[in-house]
Amino acid sequence: MPASNRYDAVLIGGGVMSATLATLLTELEPDWSVLVLEKLDTVGAESSDAWNNAGTGHSALCELNYTPARADGTVDISKAVAVNEQFQLSRQLWAHLVEKGVLSDPRSFINSVPHMSFVRGGDVDFLRARFDALSVHPLFAGMEWAQDHATIGEWAPLLTAGRPADERIAATRASAGTDVDFGALTKGMLSGAAARGVELLTGHAVEDVSRRGSGWTLKGRSSAGSFEVATPFVFVGSGGGALHLLQRSGIPEGEGFGGFPVSGQWLRCTDPATVARHGAKVYGQAEVGAPPMSVPHLDTRVMDGRKSLMFGPYAGFSPKFLKKGSWLDLPRSVRPHNLLPMLGVAKDNLSLMTYLGKQIVQSMDDRVEALRIFHPEADAADWELLTAGQRVQVIKKAKGGGVLQFGTELVHAADGSIAALLGASPGASTAVEVMFRLLRQCFPAHQDAWRDKLVEMVPSYGRQLAQDTDLLATTVARTDDALQLTA
Ligand SMILES: Cc1cc2nc3c(=O)[nH]c(=O)nc-3n(C[C@H](O)[C@H](O)[C@H](O)COP(=O)(O)OP(=O)(O)OC[C@H]3O[C@@H](n4cnc5c(N)ncnc54)[C@H](O)[C@@H]3O)c2cc1C
Repeated sequence: MPASNRYDAVLIGGGVMSATLATLLTELEPDWSVLVLEKLDTVGAESSDAWNNAGTGHSALCELNYTPARADGTVDISKAVAVNEQFQLSRQLWAHLVEKGVLSDPRSFINSVPHMSFVRGGDVDFLRARFDALSVHPLFAGMEWAQDHATIGEWAPLLTAGRPADERIAATRASAGTDVDFGALTKGMLSGAAARGVELLTGHAVEDVSRRGSGWTLKGRSSAGSFEVATPFVFVGSGGGALHLLQRSGIPEGEGFGGFPVSGQWLRCTDPATVARHGAKVYGQAEVGAPPMSVPHLDTRVMDGRKSLMFGPYAGFSPKFLKKGSWLDLPRSVRPHNLLPMLGVAKDNLSLMTYLGKQIVQSMDDRVEALRIFHPEADAADWELLTAGQRVQVIKKAKGGGVLQFGTELVHAADGSIAALLGASPGASTAVEVMFRLLRQCFPAHQDAWRDKLVEMVPSYGRQLAQDTDLLATTVARTDDALQLTA
C-alpha cells in the first residue's frame, strides 16, 4: 500500500514511458515525492516487454514507412530525420545513466545490430531514391547500398540463399542500428529510480482518477485492499490502459479520442543454426492496405546476452487494450463524444479492415509464405508462433468524423496537472523525446530552472544534431562508447 496519502507526482503504469519520466524527475527534482503504480506483479511486462515489441531502436535507418515517395519519384526524408533525432535523445539519456552507474550493463538492454532495408522488383527504384536522399544526410552517414546478390548475401545470407539469381533485389545497410530490450531497460530505470527515492508499487491497479481542487485523487485496488492518494500531477502512462483512465479524468482535452486495438504475432526461429546465420534487422515494404506498424521484418534480437531470430509482425484483432486486458476494453471505451470518430474511422479505413481480416484467417503455411519473401529456404518446422503486445491506435475527432493515427498522442489538461500518452509508434525508442515534451507542456514554469540539468543529461537538448555536425560527432562517439555500441 502507498506509504503516504499525498505525493508530488503519481505515475500510473510501470512501462518504459513511466520509467523514463520517473528517471527524469529524480534527476530534475530529487526532493519530490514520486509514486509509480503498476497493476501487474512486475514492471515492463506489457508492451515494453522484450518479446511484446520488436526491439528496434527506431531511427529510420531501415523503416521504409518513414520515407514516403513523392509523385515525382523523389523521397521525403523529413519524418526520417525527426525520428532519428528523437532516438539520439534516447541514446544520450541512456548513456548518461550508464555513466552515472544508474544502469549497470548497457549490453543488457542495447546492442549493435545493423539495420537493413530489403526490397524486390519495382521497389528497387524507390529504395535507390531513398538511399540517395538519406546517405548524404549527416544523421545517415555511412549507409551502404547493394544490388548484387553476393554483397546482400554477405550482409545477410538468409536473404539470398535459395533465391533465383536473376531476381531483381536491393538492400541498404546501416551499421549504426540497434536492438533494444525495452523490458530490461524499463526494469533498470525503475530500480534506479526506486534506489533514488521513487516509491514503486506493483500489484496496484488504479481504477479512478478524479479532480480535487487543482490536483487529483487516485483510487485503486491491490491484494491488500483499496487505496487512495492525492497529487497535484498525474501521468497516465498505462499504455493500452491509458484511454480508460483519461476518460475517467473527465478533462475536456480527452474528448473525441477513441482506441482501435491491433494485436500482433511473430514467428520465432527454433533452429540455432539458422539463428546463427543472421545478424541484422531487415525491414521490407508493407503490403497494400497494411498499417505502417505491420511492415514485415526479419530480425536479430538480443536478450540476456543471447541472439534470437524473429519474423513478423502479423496483425490480428482482439478487443483487448492490453495483452492482459479485458474482452470488454473496446466496448467500454465507447462514449457519446467518440462514437462518430470511431464510426468514421471504420467507414474510411476499409482497406485496413480488409487487410486485418485477411491476416486473422492466415494459416501457418500463409505465414511461412510471407517469411519466404525474406528467407526463401525457410522451413516451417523451424518456426513457432508467439503473441506480441497489444497496440491501441489513436482515433481522433476530425472534420466529418474521425481519423486513425499510427503515432503517439500526448493529451494533457490545460493546467498541465494531468497528461496521458495514447498510441504506440515509433514508441519506446522515442520515450525520452515524448517525456521531454510532457515536461515542457505540463511544467512550463520549471523550464528555465531545469535547462542546465537537461543539457547535462542530454547535451543536444533543445538543439538539432542535423544542424550541428560537430555536436553530432561528439554525441555519437560518446554514446557509442558509453553504451558499448560497435558501429
Ligand atoms: C507488436 C509491437 C511492436 C513494437 N515494436 C516496437 C519497436 O520495435 N520499437 C519501439 O521503439 N517500439 C515498439 N513498439 C511500441 C512500444 O512497445 C511501446 O510504445 C512502449 O512499450 C509503450 O510503453 P508504455 O510505458 O506506454 O506502455 P506499457 O509498456 O504497455 O506499460 C503500461 C503499463 O501500465 C500498466 N497499467 C495499465 N493499466 C493500469 C492501471 N489501471 N493501473 C496501474 N497500472 C496499469 C500495464 O500493466 C503496463 O505495465 C511496439 C509495440 C508493439 C505492440
